[in-house]
Formats: sequence, C-alpha cells, structure tokens
Amino acid sequence: MLENIKIVLVNTSHTGNIGSTARAMKTMGLSQLVLVDPVSPPDGKASALAAGAGDVLANAKIVSTLAEAVADCGLVVGTSARSRTLSWPMLEPRGCGEKLVSEVPKYPVALVFGRENNGLSNDELQQCHFHVCIPANPEYSSLNLAAAVQTLCYEIRMAHLNETRRESVQEEYPLAEDLEGFYSHLEQTLFKTNFIIPKHPGMVMTKLRRLFNRARPETQELNILRGILASIEKTSKENK
Ligand code: SAH
Repeated sequence: MLENIKIVLVNTSHTGNIGSTARAMKTMGLSQLVLVDPVSPPDGKASALAAGAGDVLANAKIVSTLAEAVADCGLVVGTSARSRTLSWPMLEPRGCGEKLVSEVPKYPVALVFGRENNGLSNDELQQCHFHVCIPANPEYSSLNLAAAVQTLCYEIRMAHLNETRRESVQEEYPLAEDLEGFYSHLEQTLFKTNFIIPKHPGMVMTKLRRLFNRARPETQELNILRGILASIEKTSKENK
C-alpha cells in the first residue's frame, strides 16, 4: 500500500536534504520519491545522508514540473510552514496521514514539499486538494525539509499501522439474545445461592447488566461466564 504514496520534493537546493528524505521515508516504509527540477541531482552527499536508504534514492524519479509528478494521483496534499494569504482546505498532520492511507488503495496519492528557502509557490499550492501544516512553535515554525518529511511520514505510518491492526483484530461479540440468556442464567444462579431474594430483588440485576454491558464481553468471554455459572450450579447441587 505505502509504495503508492509519493513523496514529492520541489526544486530542492541541498542534495543532503534529498538523501535525508530518502532515509526518513524508508524508516517509515515509504519508497516512492519524486524530485521536481532539483537544483542539482543526487550526489555523494545525498548518498551519505541516505545511509541504508540508497535504494530509495537510486529509484527516485526526476521530472521537470509538479504537474508531471502528480498527473496520475487522485489526491495531492501540499505542505506549508505558514498559513498563506489564500485560504485552502486544511488537514492536521494526523488527519493527513489517515486521508492518504484511506485513499491510496484507489489511486496513487502525493505529499508535496517545497523549497528550503521559500517553500511552495502559490501556483504549486493551488495544484493541491489540501494543505497540511505541522503546528510547530509559532515563533519559529519552519522545520528542516527532511524533518518535515519525517514528521508527516510518521503520521502516515501510524495511520497504516492502525488500519492493519483494525483488520487483524476482529472480536466476535455475542448476539443480544445470547446476552439475555446469560443474564437470566446469572439471575437464576443468584436466586439459588440466595444472593438475590426473589421477593426483594432490588437493583442487583440492573447494576450487573450495566456492568457487563459496559465491559461488552466477547463471545468467548461470555462462554467462560456461562461455564462459571454452570460450575456453581453443579457444586451447589452436589453439596445438597
Ligand atoms: N521559508 C519557507 C519554509 C521552507 S521549509 C516557507 O516559509 O515556506 C521547506 C519545506 O519543509 C516547506 O516547503 C514544507 O514542505 C516543509 N515544512 C517545513 N516546516 C513545515 C511545517 N511546519 N509544516 C509543514 N511543512 C513544513
């Protein structure tokens, strides 16, 4: 999935930032780097800072315009260190990660980063569906380019991990009628042990229902509870 998320760097000046971006991406599981008109192509400094992410750097695509970089993308998010005069739909970093991860199964998506000295131009920002700003210190909000890439790629990774966790954990919950069966079994048992006197039941069952409904037992857990009730009944019969 993450391989269809493009990290696009526009007109980068420092090749070291290109290498550090490759490293930031690979640590978060991303691999598709696109360089729009870099001031100079990746060099030895880029490779040194890419460290173990030389493969991401080697596979980086170089194109001449942002339009070309994002032509096949269904969602394009631009990054900005400050709010611009033109207001645009905004995303928080967390929401940005979630949006990219939720849409990437449908088409490639892109996250676009600007120049070290003056970010993305208004024309480039207007090619994006959303803008995202890392809410940094208002007195000094401009992160190093690769640090901004790292921060937003981390959010992408968190969103991705949450999604895979949701898919793998599928609790099985009992049906309402099974829960009712448990409550009447519980009540019967509590009558038998004289914990509840049928003539003066009070609020015990209501409070127990509230407790179990709050806990929302899974099917397996409910089976354990019913097993416990059965074992109580069995031993109290034997002791009579
Ligand atoms: N002086 C430039 C800052 C450029 S920093 C400006 O005012 O726009 C280089 C790039 O890093 C930015 O274009 C953006 O892609 C990213 N970046 C830096 N700080 C960021 C922040 N707080 N939120 C989002 N992206 C940020």
